[in-house]
Amino acid sequence: MKQSREGLLLVVSGPAGVGKGSIDGILLERHRNMRLSVSATTRSPRPGEIDGVHYFFIDEERFRQMIAENAFLEYMQVFNMHYYGTPRAYVEQELRAGHDVLLEIDVQGAMRVKESYPDAVLVFVAPPSMSALKERLIGRNTETPEQIEKRFATAYQEVRCMNRYDYIVVNDVLDVAVRRMEHIINAEKCRASRNQAIINEFAGGKDEI
Ligand code: 5GP
Repeated sequence: MKQSREGLLLVVSGPAGVGKGSIDGILLERHRNMRLSVSATTRSPRPGEIDGVHYFFIDEERFRQMIAENAFLEYMQVFNMHYYGTPRAYVEQELRAGHDVLLEIDVQGAMRVKESYPDAVLVFVAPPSMSALKERLIGRNTETPEQIEKRFATAYQEVRCMNRYDYIVVNDVLDVAVRRMEHIINAEKCRASRNQAIINEFAGGKDEI
């Protein structure tokens, strides 16, 4: 009898600069069964970002067309300017194939996913402190000071929503944070509700206790 092989839908959120990308990158390297959902966005690529790898960079017209086609699992307008959305087809196809699927999306998006997929596991990556987060954002050197201020203000709103998640992982030391994620994934795979096949197998046994 095998432990659950059902694909796990893992939703990871956290403020910009908290290190979600680094954690997810290591998880994807270590777990061959895991897939990253690439979101679509109308924002411009940052230096080094590749279309189809970090995001599908599309224009607003195409984004609106995809909304009309119900092609998003969830979508959101972030910072009152750009759209971000999770293409539905890829996620559903990979889950059906038994792969774990990782979504790196914002708080509102995570809540929407939980509504349509109650089995999804929501993890919030928290910084060790708000001052540590600010240092990381400045050190990243990819945004203007105004953008950093804006992101930091958003970060304050985001951390206030962490109580709505299933798990909180503090990213103090990267390796430790990755291990915490792995423990969550392993525990979720052992959840009774995800192991109906085992339950059925033993329920069919004739032996009395
Ligand atoms: P960034 O512009 O830094 O790549 O992302 C900005 C925010 O948008 C982050 O909080 C990120 O998690 C979120 N985000 C990225 N893709 C999606 C998506 O498909 N849906 C939603 N709701 N948020 C997303």
